[in-house]
Amino acid sequence: MKTLVIAENEAAARELAAGARAYADEVVYATFADPVTGIADKCLVVEVPEGQAKEAAFDTFAKILADEDPQMVFFEPTRRLKALVGRLAAHNGASVMTDISAIDEESVQTRYFGGIAERTAKSVTPVAFCSAGAGTFKDAEPSGTDVVETVEYVAPAVTLECVERETLPPAEVDLTAADKVVAAGRGFGSEEELEEARTFCKAIGAELGCTRPLTETEDWFPREAYIGISGLMLSPEVYVGIGVSGQMQHMVGVDRAHVAFAINKDAHAPIFDKVDYGLVGAINDVLPKINAKLS
Ligand SMILES: Cc1cc2nc3c(=O)[nH]c(=O)nc-3n(C[C@H](O)[C@H](O)[C@H](O)COP(=O)(O)OP(=O)(O)OC[C@H]3O[C@@H](n4cnc5c(N)ncnc54)[C@H](O)[C@@H]3O)c2cc1C
Repeated sequence: MKTLVIAENEAAARELAAGARAYADEVVYATFADPVTGIADKCLVVEVPEGQAKEAAFDTFAKILADEDPQMVFFEPTRRLKALVGRLAAHNGASVMTDISAIDEESVQTRYFGGIAERTAKSVTPVAFCSAGAGTFKDAEPSGTDVVETVEYVAPAVTLECVERETLPPAEVDLTAADKVVAAGRGFGSEEELEEARTFCKAIGAELGCTRPLTETEDWFPREAYIGISGLMLSPEVYVGIGVSGQMQHMVGVDRAHVAFAINKDAHAPIFDKVDYGLVGAINDVLPKINAKLS
């Protein structure tokens, strides 16, 4: 079996290529720039002309797909690739299996209903498309050559021009690579209160993420920092939810954590049913005390 891996970021490229290597005879990896070498049998680099949006590289990726003729495509579920690869899959009338958790030569395991259930799925088309979140193949090792080829850009019939670029503040951390993750939720009453969470993270060597309302309603974190079904899917060793209610859309992003803790002032908060250890208390009361003990 031949698998094409499409990824933008190094960690995802490594992990998806490793996952593909575990069952595929041949792994080809396609990306936009700065390829990771040694993880696939061949690496294809798509150079998008200046001023063009990367999403406009659809025809180039369609050509790669036709030339390589893989039976499986693994893609990193970034916003851009969901749009671009989703279009590729639709164009090919192909089976799409999102958020897979395991794969063998016959079938894949995927999560559904927002991650509360798993099912076994089988492709019914010659090529199938699968996305996988961080941590899905974290125990697998990639291997490959340093062969890198630049793919000629195929200009789309209708160009998609990039009319404006805004540089967002860089994400403070790569949560996908963190062993310990703390998530701040709406239990934090103000942005200033997050300082206690940062102190806590520093003391235990964790990185700080959040629930969706803290990025979309409050704008206290960049969009890349929220955890859950529409954000980051993580597999940390340790997860600590502070002021997090435990809604399924958030918890599915960390339910592969090895050990999970929660701090919440409401003893009946749903998160307490989903973690290994819970502490009932108000953030302003308990977090400074924990930090004082840890310092
Ligand atoms: C389609 C869809 C997709 C979604 N995707 C995501 C996603 O990917 N990620 C995500 O996070 N959410 C997602 N959501 C939103 C999700 O459903 C929840 O609304 C969200 O996770 C709740 O965030 P929260 O726990 O921070 O806030 P809340 O639900 O408001 O909970 C706040 C918690 O803090 C506690 N609290 C309050 N004050 C204190 C205090 N002083 N001390 C201690 N505890 C306190 C409260 O008891 C409560 O349990 C999605 C929703 C939809 C509809």
